[in-house]
Amino acid sequence: MAPGHRRILVAGAGATGLTAALELARRGFRPRIIDNGEGTVPLLESRALGINARTLALLAPSRVTDAILQEAQQLAQFRVVAKRRRLAVLDTTKVPGPYGALHALAQGHTERLLLGKLSDYEVVPEWHTTVETVSEDLLKPQVTLRKPDGSVETAEFDIVIGADGAHSTVRKSIGVAFPGEALESSFYLADFRYTREIDSHFVEMILLDPGMIGRVPVERDVVRYISTLPDFESSIDHPAPIAEQTWATSFRIHFRHVETMSKGNVFLAGDAAHIHSPAGARGMNLGIEDACWLAWLIAEGREADYTQLRMPAVLTVLKQTRQLTALFTMSNPLAIKLRNLAIPTLFRLPAFSHRLLRGVSGYDTPAPPWIDGAL
Ligand SMILES: Cc1cc2nc3c(=O)[nH]c(=O)nc-3n(C[C@H](O)[C@H](O)[C@H](O)COP(=O)(O)OP(=O)(O)OC[C@H]3O[C@@H](n4cnc5c(N)ncnc54)[C@H](O)[C@@H]3O)c2cc1C
Repeated sequence: MAPGHRRILVAGAGATGLTAALELARRGFRPRIIDNGEGTVPLLESRALGINARTLALLAPSRVTDAILQEAQQLAQFRVVAKRRRLAVLDTTKVPGPYGALHALAQGHTERLLLGKLSDYEVVPEWHTTVETVSEDLLKPQVTLRKPDGSVETAEFDIVIGADGAHSTVRKSIGVAFPGEALESSFYLADFRYTREIDSHFVEMILLDPGMIGRVPVERDVVRYISTLPDFESSIDHPAPIAEQTWATSFRIHFRHVETMSKGNVFLAGDAAHIHSPAGARGMNLGIEDACWLAWLIAEGREADYTQLRMPAVLTVLKQTRQLTALFTMSNPLAIKLRNLAIPTLFRLPAFSHRLLRGVSGYDTPAPPWIDGAL
C-alpha cells in the first residue's frame, strides 16, 4: 500500500508524537496527530533539557538537528564537586561523531522546532482533542476522539501510535500494564535567571552529605538546579545576582516500563512505554528514538518487529538511569564517604568514563540502520 494510503493516528503531540509524525511525513505518509493540550510545552518550563548525540543524529535527516544546534548550548564538561573540591571532570566533547555527547535546550524550544518542520509537510496537530478509547480490534483499531467542541468522533485507523505520555490512555485502553516502582524521595527543581551571562558550558553534580544538587545550564543566563533536598536553595552557590526564578517544580521518580510496546497495530512510544529518573537526561531522547525507529519500521512494512527491536534499548536505559540515580542519591554516611573517595579514581578509569560517555551520548542503544555511518 502506498504510504499516503495508510491511515495513521499519532496520539500525543509531545516530543515523541511530533517526531513520529515528522519522520512519517518526510517518508510520504499523512499521519493525523492529536493532543488534548493547547500546544507545546511552555518555553519557561525547561523540562527535558539534555539532547544527546544519538538524538541529533536521528533528527539530522529532517534537518531539525541544524535548527537545534543553532539554539542549543553544548555541554562540554560533566563535573563532580564535593565541599567545593572538584572530584572529577569528564570531557563530553570526546565522543565519536560530529556532535559531542550533550547539548542543552529547553523542551518547549525543541518541540517548537519539531512542530515547525512538521508544518513544512502540512501536518498540523489537532489540539484540544482527546483520545478516549481504542477498540478491542487491534488490527483495525477504532479510536474514539473527543473534539474541542465536545463532540465525539469515532474513526478507524491502520496504525495507532500511543505517544500520550506516562498516563497513556492508549496504553490503558489496549490493556498493557505499566509495572515498576516509585522512589520514596521526591526531587525538587528550580530554574534561575541571572542578571548577566554565566559560564554555561558545563553540567555539575554537587555532592552534599546527604543529598546532591545538579546544576545544568538552560540558557546563557539561566541555570537549573535539581536536588533531593526540599530546602536545597539555601545551599546554592549562585554564579551571579539573581534576576528571577523562572520555574520551580517537584516530582517523584518512577521506574516503569511496559512488557510489550505494541499490540496488533497499536504501538506505544516515549513516556507511554517507559519512565525513569532524569539522571543521564535520557527520557525525551529515548522517546524520540522510539519514534524514529517506529516510523522507519512502518515505512519498511516491518512494524511487527518494533517491540523486539526497541525493548533492549529501553532496558539498557532504565538500568543506566537506576545506577546513576542510586550513585547520586545515597544516604548512608559511610557509603557517601566511600563514594566520594572512589569517584576521582572511577572517573580516571577509561572503561568507566567511556561507558558513562556512551550512555550520556545515547550511543549505548542500537544504531539506526537507515542513517549512513550512524554510531
Ligand atoms: C523535571 C523534568 C526534567 C526532565 N529532564 C529531562 C532531560 O534532561 N532529558 C530528557 O531526555 N528527558 C527529560 N525529562 C523527561 C521528558 O520530559 C519526558 O520523557 C518527555 O516529555 C516525554 O515525551 P513524550 O512525548 O513521550 O510524552 P509527553 O511529553 O508527556 O507528551 C504526551 C502528550 O500527550 C498528550 N496527551 C496525554 N493524554 C492524552 C489523551 N488522552 N489524548 C490526547 N493527547 C493526550 C499530552 O497533552 C502531551 O502533550 C524530564 C522530565 C521532567 C519532568
